[in-house]
Amino acid sequence: MKKKGWLVLALAVQLGLGLSWLFDWPLQLKQTLVQDGPYVFFKHGQDISAMWVCDGEKEQLQQAHNKMLAPRCGYDKPLQIGDRTEPLSQVKFTAPKLAALSDIHGQFSLLQDLLRQHGIIDREQNWAFGDGHLVIAGDVMDRGPGVTEILWFLYQLEQQAKTAGGQLHVLLGNHETMVLRGDLRYLHDKYRKVEQVLGSSYQHLYSADTVLGDWLRSRPVLVQVNDSVFVHAGLHPDYLALGLSMTEVNEHYRASLGLDKATVKQQPILEFLYGSLGPIWYRGYFRDKAAVGQAELGQLLQQLQAARVIVGHTSMDAIYSHQGGQVISLDSNIKKGASGELLLWQLPGMPDGEFMRGTLSGERLPLETYHKSADETD
Ligand code: ZN
Repeated sequence: MKKKGWLVLALAVQLGLGLSWLFDWPLQLKQTLVQDGPYVFFKHGQDISAMWVCDGEKEQLQQAHNKMLAPRCGYDKPLQIGDRTEPLSQVKFTAPKLAALSDIHGQFSLLQDLLRQHGIIDREQNWAFGDGHLVIAGDVMDRGPGVTEILWFLYQLEQQAKTAGGQLHVLLGNHETMVLRGDLRYLHDKYRKVEQVLGSSYQHLYSADTVLGDWLRSRPVLVQVNDSVFVHAGLHPDYLALGLSMTEVNEHYRASLGLDKATVKQQPILEFLYGSLGPIWYRGYFRDKAAVGQAELGQLLQQLQAARVIVGHTSMDAIYSHQGGQVISLDSNIKKGASGELLLWQLPGMPDGEFMRGTLSGERLPLETYHKSADETD
């Protein structure tokens, strides 16, 4: 009888496990379904409309009251949508404290962890950096699955920073310019499904009539904060031959976003700005091709009235100093989703005037000089 009892128990356990699987499967299925949005469109006057993908299905809102959007799927905070964004004509800024990173490539939780560990945002993901400036040096889009969430998060963070007397600078990288002109080679598979469900190309979801498309089109390519020039990839000394101010470079980019390659090539200024020596692609601080030395770089910086250039785009395993401190590289390979760093300056408790790198575990370490050859990816 004892044996039979065990058998009954074993059967009951088997059945229980089977049943729990049966009851759990909707949850398991739900986790594999696409959640994304909102994609918000400006309509006539003050109206906006929005689309989401919830559990793999399209959801729509024809008109939002007072431009307030409650969360449904994707980005999980309520949004107050502003008017169309006026581009800032200001290009030089003074900041009492500074943080910077680049090449997030859709890694939303990693971005939040890094910013929270160093007090740039609080536990509710709100701006906690007071009058500090945070620079995101391009390439938020492509590769990873959290692009929509990151863009809305930054959209909100910019408003909060301004209210607190601080500033968020989101610079354009080559991947933003690629998406805006419909080059979708690096899109995460998730957004292919979003295109299908919403019946819309990804490019259209970031058209000039969308809130985020409009916001992206108002972003600069160059900013100077204190004595540092920030740019996604770098500035080759030939940049000076253009004879353009930083403001004019930003204006040229704004006017050209979305143009196809052939049109860009017909205009000499744009051909340089979008070329391999231009601000969103250049790698010559770290590579032999079109390399620039310390003396040349010194002259360039003198012309720019800056002490250093701070760039992303070329991936390394940490944030590093190069060229005798005239270059700092920010791209710490966040795109792989496993680690990343944040450049910090003048945060409470830091040595006066020294740049440091903040890690995911909250440590602050000195910048080291880079010696190995850089990764090939951007
Ligand atoms: Zn890049």
